[in-house]
Amino acid sequence: MTLPILSRNFDVADAWKIGVAENRGAYVTAKKVLTSMQPADVTNAVVAANLRGLGGAGFPTGKKWRFLPKNNSKPVYLVVNADEGEPGTFKDRYILERDPHQLIEGIILSAFAINSRKAYIYIRGEYVEPFKRTQAAVEEAYSKGYLGKNIFGTGLTLDVVVHRGAGAYICGEETALLNSLEGLKGYPRLKPPFPAIAGLFGCPTIVNNVETLACVPPILKHGAEWFAKLGSAGNGGTHLFSISGHVNKPGVYELPMGAPLREMIYTHAGGIRGGKKLKAVIPGGISAKILTAQEIDVKMDYDSLRAAGTMLGSAGVIVMDEDTSMVKMLYYATKFFAHESCGQCSPCREGTGWAHKIVRRIYEGHGALKDLDSLLTIAKNMEGRTICVFADAAAWPIQSYITKFRKEFEEHIAKRGSEFGVRSSEQARSASSHG
Ligand code: SF4
Repeated sequence: MTLPILSRNFDVADAWKIGVAENRGAYVTAKKVLTSMQPADVTNAVVAANLRGLGGAGFPTGKKWRFLPKNNSKPVYLVVNADEGEPGTFKDRYILERDPHQLIEGIILSAFAINSRKAYIYIRGEYVEPFKRTQAAVEEAYSKGYLGKNIFGTGLTLDVVVHRGAGAYICGEETALLNSLEGLKGYPRLKPPFPAIAGLFGCPTIVNNVETLACVPPILKHGAEWFAKLGSAGNGGTHLFSISGHVNKPGVYELPMGAPLREMIYTHAGGIRGGKKLKAVIPGGISAKILTAQEIDVKMDYDSLRAAGTMLGSAGVIVMDEDTSMVKMLYYATKFFAHESCGQCSPCREGTGWAHKIVRRIYEGHGALKDLDSLLTIAKNMEGRTICVFADAAAWPIQSYITKFRKEFEEHIAKRGSEFGVRSSEQARSASSHG
């Protein structure tokens, strides 16, 4: 089987409805596996396939499943992270909206593997249409006997609950998500214990991303070796890349793990808009360290991007042309992180706020050269000192933008922003109050 795999139904009319999905082969693999294989066979296949967590962390999926306690008397929960809040990322939305049965089949197989009888799909609040489609698909799956009691006549039960979040970015962090699901504030939890040991309602829980689970049916259908060979070493399969920014053809592209970034921009996404030159690329959502135009000869997989000093993250590729202001980009990035910090940890709560204020001052033309070093010091003090990696993710754009584009920041400061057409917030407020 050649590509596409995960996106094979994205452009098929009504593929989110069960009749069309069944005609396209949905649930055949789940039935075959549940009636002829053991749970450990499924986990072994997922391990051998080199499936990584495709939400951002890239942790090996089968290895995560094996962290579940062996002699456990508590219920085991499977929680689907459909919170997709990383700016520049919109791939899971396609699965939820266009092919939710692919996800539900992945849930059935994964729940079977980890001996779970209840799964939750946590969807971000802003995803209204994906929520409606996924909810409808779950109801259809129940009506066909693919969910509920005695699925496929095996005697197994699996219930699936679709739950809408309220729109906080931090609820994409798996323990904040679990708190939110329990009706608590979306605060990340101190770890250990990790969710596999004590997760939802204190029970062993596996949290997996939407796309990760959607990969499980093709792995079981075509074999782990086939899936592993699609990608690069240690990074099995394909990945849905969300490509946005100054390209001619932004969109979601399914490509093998390890596909070259240059090819992604210039071949698949049609090159830079208006024939302009490339200035920079964020390879994995706004948290990822930025790459300059000279650094794009890199493979798009977890290990290659880590070696290049950045990360694949959520595979949200944001492309910037030669006219992009890095000062403005960092202004928006810091504004986002200052707004979304949950506030539990001082280095994050204070650091994101300070960074945003300083970058805003620079952007509006009131910065000083020493501000750049202050920003780097703040970023350094945010890294590795907090409950979750949000603070690190907020620090990385600051470090990489200033380090790689320092000259541009210095010029902006020297020209005091005025020549860049930047108005101060006071000027903006004054203009709006005077109509
Ligand atoms: Fe909250 Fe930031 Fe601490 Fe994470 S690092 S728990 S987002 S304050």
